Amino acid sequence: MKSRRIRHIRDLKYDDFARVIVSYDNEWSNSAKDRIKLALNACSGLEDESDKKYRLWQTIQVILWEFPEAVDIGFNHYAKKNFIQRYDALQYHDKNCKGKDCNVCNIMDRWEE
Ligand SMILES: [Zn+2]
Repeated sequence: MKSRRIRHIRDLKYDDFARVIVSYDNEWSNSAKDRIKLALNACSGLEDESDKKYRLWQTIQVILWEFPEAVDIGFNHYAKKNFIQRYDALQYHDKNCKGKDCNVCNIMDRWEE
């Protein structure tokens, strides 16, 4: 069976969406990171998958103002173009991660504290 290709942000599972956002780690400003942490916290208290995605997306729409390209082409377009590509890269990472000294894993670990 072929694995399902994700074409829209709304097709991402909340956990995958959150990982994509976290993977931008050093590209977010400190205040953006604070907002993301708040959002992830709030989401962990929500049950419904689509409520979680909606809550996280609300925060993304605030912090994407920091990315000139996102402001230029529109947040939806930017998210579709970049976040799905990042999701694919993370899928690739999951299959090929060597564990030791892995940058992606290091970033994820840092956010889980
Ligand atoms: Zn890794």
